[in-house]
Amino acid sequence: MHVSIDAIIVGAGPNGLAAAIELARAGKRVRIYEANDHVGGGARSANLTLPGFIHDVCSAVHPLAFSSPFFTKLPLAKYGLQFIEPPAAVAHPFDDGSAILLKRSVEATSLQLGGDARRYRNLMQAFVDNWEKLSHDILGPLRIPRHPVALAHFGVHAIRSAEGLLKSRFREMRTRAFCAGLAAHSSIPLDQLGTAAFGLVLGTLGHRVGWPIPRGGAQAISDALSSYFRDLGGEIITGVHVTAIKDLPRARCILFDVTPRQLIQIVGENFPPSFSAKLKRYRYGPGVFKMDWALDGPVPWLAAECREAATVHLGGSFEEILESERSPWHGRVSDRPFVLVCQPSLFDTTRAPEGNHTLWAYCHVPNGSDLDVSNRIEDQIERFAPGFRKLVLARHVMSPAQLEAHNSNLIGGDINGGAQILRQMFSRPTLKTYSTAIDDVYICSSSTPPGGGVHGMCGYHAARLALRKSFS
Ligand SMILES: Cc1cc2nc3c(=O)[nH]c(=O)nc-3n(C[C@H](O)[C@H](O)[C@H](O)COP(=O)(O)OP(=O)(O)OC[C@H]3O[C@@H](n4cnc5c(N)ncnc54)[C@H](O)[C@@H]3O)c2cc1C
Repeated sequence: MHVSIDAIIVGAGPNGLAAAIELARAGKRVRIYEANDHVGGGARSANLTLPGFIHDVCSAVHPLAFSSPFFTKLPLAKYGLQFIEPPAAVAHPFDDGSAILLKRSVEATSLQLGGDARRYRNLMQAFVDNWEKLSHDILGPLRIPRHPVALAHFGVHAIRSAEGLLKSRFREMRTRAFCAGLAAHSSIPLDQLGTAAFGLVLGTLGHRVGWPIPRGGAQAISDALSSYFRDLGGEIITGVHVTAIKDLPRARCILFDVTPRQLIQIVGENFPPSFSAKLKRYRYGPGVFKMDWALDGPVPWLAAECREAATVHLGGSFEEILESERSPWHGRVSDRPFVLVCQPSLFDTTRAPEGNHTLWAYCHVPNGSDLDVSNRIEDQIERFAPGFRKLVLARHVMSPAQLEAHNSNLIGGDINGGAQILRQMFSRPTLKTYSTAIDDVYICSSSTPPGGGVHGMCGYHAARLALRKSFS
């Protein structure tokens, strides 16, 4: 029997799944092709070390998924998705054994910041109060804002470099270090324009919704999305790596959850050369070097407060974080890299056998780097948690090349689908954003606005555009 398809999605990452769901909710017959044997892309969990230990292969901490304007509209709890909110969003330890915690309350957080307390409240409170308004305008393509006043107030700060904003706003070196840790999620040097935006958004989310983790791991997000999609009548075919558009069956439209480099390989010769040239100019960011551990106990943090947060930022001082995030852009890795750590099993007992724990961490390295930085990462953990190495039962390492082999969207280990530099925030990957030079062929990955993270908003906006243009 011939079953006609309205839309094909290539790639079952969070954005591919989001696009598929939005199209299926509009009554379209949708089929997804996924290269891996499992759905999820950058939101996957697997048994990477020892039996009984569940590790997040890529994403681990999910304020963006939890507060996504699209995901929150979906009945994902019905499909088993539960979030756990640790008491604090982030812990930032210092060498003297103290730590600053990002707490839900702006006031309580500010009280740890000495002379910067009032300045921190003045900066953050309005963003926290206006998050509902801001999220609509920030988490999508450039368009006429619905809330221009709130957006303008956010924009004047967000457009700045994190380094510039923090130096002009705060006097205390500890406050600057703590906030630089939030901004360093951008993966780009903190003296670049627009890096302040990452710290402000992630800090605001920490106050507004916390930084939750899904019970059972990131796979729970992907499994809930894919189960819901199947219940809407959608079809998922795994284990098929699409290499040429001509191999796909006929459909009204195709949405690619891939990055520009792959799009050129798959569709390339059908694009006008000028469009391919634009895609080739798209810039990828640094890679990451990722590690997972099975531990014989919780991490022995010097600062006991670190046990209150799933996410721990190991960067020490402001200057060290600046240097660490500058280095990968110049082909280096800092001796003391800024390390993002997640300790989910402290809050989710499904991740490890009783008494044991899992640990997840990465640092930024030059794109495609083959340098083994596992010792530098472990040294950073040991610096703030002496005795850590004695607890290691097993470790698992993923270099940029191994990450890319796991998921071909992770070009050179870039986890954001392309550098999130100012030029590529809205003209992402080109000024056409979700459209391409071919009618009915779209791109829906994190290489479109609003960029990296598990939130599905790239897929959602691409699907809305496809519904308007290909099915009107
Ligand atoms: C180490 C790491 C840590 C991260 N930490 C976080 C975090 O804590 N929180 C957070 O919110 N985000 C995090 N991220 C980022 C997040 O995972 C990504 O931004 C997000 O997954 C992007 O979703 P996507 O759907 O655009 O692409 P992806 O999730 O990369 O999915 C793309 C999918 O397409 C498939 N595919 C690619 N090419 C083809 C092809 N030719 N044919 C068929 N299928 C194909 C791939 O196999 C993959 O399944 C992290 C990422 C990494 C790698």
